[in-house]
Amino acid sequence: MKSLSIKNKVLEIEHLQKNYQDPKDEIKALSDISFNVFEKEFVSIVGPSGCGKSTILSILSFLEDKSCGTVHLKDNTKLGYMLQSDCLFPWKTILENALLGLEITNSLTEDKKKYVLDLLHTYGLSEFLNKYPDSLSGGMRQRVALIRTLALKPDILLLDEPMSALDYQSKLLISNDIYKMIKDEGITAIMVTHDLAEAISMSDKVIVLSKRPAVIKNIYEIKLKNKKTPVENRKDEYFDKYYDLIWSDLDELY
Ligand code: ADP
Repeated sequence: MKSLSIKNKVLEIEHLQKNYQDPKDEIKALSDISFNVFEKEFVSIVGPSGCGKSTILSILSFLEDKSCGTVHLKDNTKLGYMLQSDCLFPWKTILENALLGLEITNSLTEDKKKYVLDLLHTYGLSEFLNKYPDSLSGGMRQRVALIRTLALKPDILLLDEPMSALDYQSKLLISNDIYKMIKDEGITAIMVTHDLAEAISMSDKVIVLSKRPAVIKNIYEIKLKNKKTPVENRKDEYFDKYYDLIWSDLDELY
């Protein structure tokens, strides 16, 4: 694997192509995708449903092979993956669920347990340590799922529609929490979402894909007037400008 030439670049994707083969047909998902991700950047990928957004994450996490093109990750990069579903085990307590990744990878130490307990405390979950997932709201469960992933100290976190199953208010609150955890831990994030406001309010960069087979329609560096939390960013003077630009990109595709 070639090493990345530009300082701080953690991922370089060039002319990525993906065709799925099913028994009857070939499905062209990605036609020509190229972009870079830099250390500690929060990048969102938006585009029409079925255009290949999740396919990019599946290729990055080695769940799918690419058909063509190159994907260069910085040496020794550890990836974490957070899904729409929290995937908590109902028969394990909140603490057991949060420690699961460390246990499975045989890397649970007292220091790492303390790190997980501190995160659970900071994000309002202390009193639920010995409770089971069904006693938590959807937003709280997603917080536990994120803490379980962060416990493994990933360098890049892949998020696939992590808030799409939540109601509007929980979504806003958890977007603040997810953003804070990622920024506090200095993690690079790549998030797939169909929610433009979520993408703009959380990201440093938004990548807009075309219809399938996907090419890059546009890449926006999000420069708000006064960047704060995702919820506050929605009220920023420049927020609507980005929303309109991306909306019109997507509108042209239908
Ligand atoms: P998105 O995340 O943008 O909604 P996906 O990446 O999930 O899109 O899927 C892109 C296209 O590839 C869709 O048409 C989907 O049906 C198809 N696809 C995804 N996974 C597979 C698979 N394992 N086998 C065949 N086709 C697939």
